[in-house]
Amino acid sequence: MRGLKVALIEKTDFAAETSSRSTKLVHGGVRYLEQAFKNLDFAQLRQVRHGLAERRFVLQNAPHLAHPLGLITPVFSWWEGLYISSGLKLYDWFSGHRLQVPDNQVANRFPPSRWLNKREALEMMPGLSPNIHSAVLYYDGQMDDARYCLALIQSAAEAGAVVVNHLEVNGFQKNDKGHLVAAIVKNQVENSPAFELKAKQFLNCTGPYADAIRQMANPSLTPRIRASKGVHLVLPQAVFNSDKAMLIPKTRDGRMVFVLPFEGSLLLGTTDEPYLDLEKEPVLEADEVRFLLETLQPFVSTKIGKEQVKAGFGGIRPLLQPPNNQITVSTNHQTKSLLRDHEVERDPISGLISLLGGKWTTYRLMARDAVDTVCGVLDVSADCQTENHRLVGAEKYELDLWKKIRAEFSFDEDICQHLASKYGGRATVLAALAAGNYELAERILPNFPFLKAEIVYAVQEEMALTIRDFLARRIRLEFLDWEAARQAAPVVAKWMGKALAWSETEQTKRTEEYVALLDSFLKISKKA
Ligand SMILES: Cc1cc2nc3c(=O)[nH]c(=O)nc-3n(C[C@H](O)[C@H](O)[C@H](O)COP(=O)(O)OP(=O)(O)OC[C@H]3O[C@@H](n4cnc5c(N)ncnc54)[C@H](O)[C@@H]3O)c2cc1C
Repeated sequence: MRGLKVALIEKTDFAAETSSRSTKLVHGGVRYLEQAFKNLDFAQLRQVRHGLAERRFVLQNAPHLAHPLGLITPVFSWWEGLYISSGLKLYDWFSGHRLQVPDNQVANRFPPSRWLNKREALEMMPGLSPNIHSAVLYYDGQMDDARYCLALIQSAAEAGAVVVNHLEVNGFQKNDKGHLVAAIVKNQVENSPAFELKAKQFLNCTGPYADAIRQMANPSLTPRIRASKGVHLVLPQAVFNSDKAMLIPKTRDGRMVFVLPFEGSLLLGTTDEPYLDLEKEPVLEADEVRFLLETLQPFVSTKIGKEQVKAGFGGIRPLLQPPNNQITVSTNHQTKSLLRDHEVERDPISGLISLLGGKWTTYRLMARDAVDTVCGVLDVSADCQTENHRLVGAEKYELDLWKKIRAEFSFDEDICQHLASKYGGRATVLAALAAGNYELAERILPNFPFLKAEIVYAVQEEMALTIRDFLARRIRLEFLDWEAARQAAPVVAKWMGKALAWSETEQTKRTEEYVALLDSFLKISKKA
C-alpha cells in the first residue's frame, strides 16, 4: 500500500504459532494499568494507551471477526468491589475513543463499566458462584485471531503482495561487508530444493523466533526475546451459560485469568512461565490443567472436573528484554512482569530490520513502525494508510448478513451465522460454492455448522495445504474439541485430497499422522 514490492513468507501456516494461540482479547490491558499506577510506570501507561487506541481500529477494520465483549469481574467484599470498579472507571476514561463503525456492523459499542449487585451478576452469568459479594462489568474487544491474521494476509495479497505459507528461511546470502542480499528459502510441504529470494531489504517478524533469524543474519547480535509460555483449556459453554466473559483478578501466583465464550465453548487461561525449547510445540500439560481448574473452581456454582476439558492449546509470548539482558522492568526476572510493548531494531552490519515484542492488539501500530523504518532505509516517502483500510470480508458485511444468506441459500440458521461471522462479505461466495454441489452443502460433522464446501474454499481461496491448516486455523475445530477434530480428519483429508491431488494412500497417511498428534494431546490432559 506504500508502493513497495513485497513478498511475505511463513515457515508453516499463517498464524500457526502464537498468533492463533492468544486469549483473543483486543485490549489495552487492565493489569498493565494497575501496574502502571502501582509502580508509577509511564512505559506501562503508554502501552495501555496504545492498546486502547488500536482496539478501535481492530474492530473497525474487520467487524465480522472482532466485536465488543462484556467481562464480569466477581468480587467477594465491598472494598474489593470499590477498588476494581474505580480501576475500571479509569480504564473507561483512558479508552475515550469512540468506535466508528456503522450501526449495522456492530451490535454493542464499548459501554462504560458498571458495578453490578449480586442479583444482576447472577442473572448475567447464571453459572457464577452464589458466594460472590457483587461484580464489576466492563468492555473490551474479542476476535478470532487466526482468521484475523488470514484476513490480513488476504488483504496484503489483494493490495499486491506475494504471500506464501510453508516456506522457511533457513539462511542468508551476504555481500563481502556482511550485508544481506538474499534469503535461502525451502518449501516445507513438497520436498523441492531450497532457492534464493533476493531483496533490497529484509524485515524479520518472527515473534518468539526472532533471535534465530537475527543471529542467522549477524551471529554477534545478543538475544532480545524472553519466551514465555501461556496455555488455555476449553470447557463447555454451559459451565457459565452466558455470553459474557469473566475476569479472575488474582490467582495464587498473582496473575489475572480469563474465562471467555468462544465459538460455543469457554476458553480458560492463561499461564505465564519461561519457555526454553522453542523447537517444541508448547502443548497443554497436566499440571497446567490442574492449576487452571483449581483457579476457576471458587468462581463457579458447579464442580468442574478434568473430564469436562474438551481441548487446549499453548502459545509462546515474544516478550522483549532490554539489550544485554539488563532487566529494568522486573527485578525477579519473571516473564509475567516484562513489558508487552514493541521495538523496531535495525542491525547496521547485516541491514536486517527486526520487529520485536508487542501484542496482537497493537499489530497495526507495530507494522506501521516497522514499515516506516523500511521506507526510511529505502528512501521512500509514503505514509501509512492502514488506519482505515477495511480488511477482506469487511466489505459488504453487516450484522444481519446471515439472514440474507438464509433467504438466498436456505441453509440452517447456525450455518448462516457461522458463514457470515467467519467470512464476512465473502460468505456469499462460499455459500454459492456449497449451493452448486449437494455434497459440498453437507456438514462436516452433524453437531457443528462447518460445511464441506469450506474445505474446498480453504484450499482454493485461503491457501490451506494440510489437514491441520484447515482444522486448527481455518475453522478452529482443533482449538475447540479434540475428539470432534479427530472425527473430522478423514472427511477433511478426502476433500483436500481431491483439491490437491492426494492419492488415497496419502489421504490415509495424513489422517493417521494428524490423529496421532491429537491423541498425544488427549493423553497428556488425561494425566491431569
Ligand atoms: C497465551 C497467550 C495469550 C495472549 N493473549 C493476547 C491477547 O489476548 N491479546 C493480545 O493483544 N495479545 C495476546 N498475546 C500476544 C500475541 O498473541 C502475540 O504478541 C502475537 O500473536 C505475536 O505475533 P508474531 O507474529 O510476533 O509471532 P507469531 O505469531 O509466533 O509468528 C511468528 C511466525 O514466524 C514464523 N517463522 C519462524 N521462523 C521462521 C523462519 N525461519 N522462516 C519463516 N518463518 C518463520 C513462525 O512459523 C511463526 O508463524 C498472547 C500471547 C500468548 C502466548
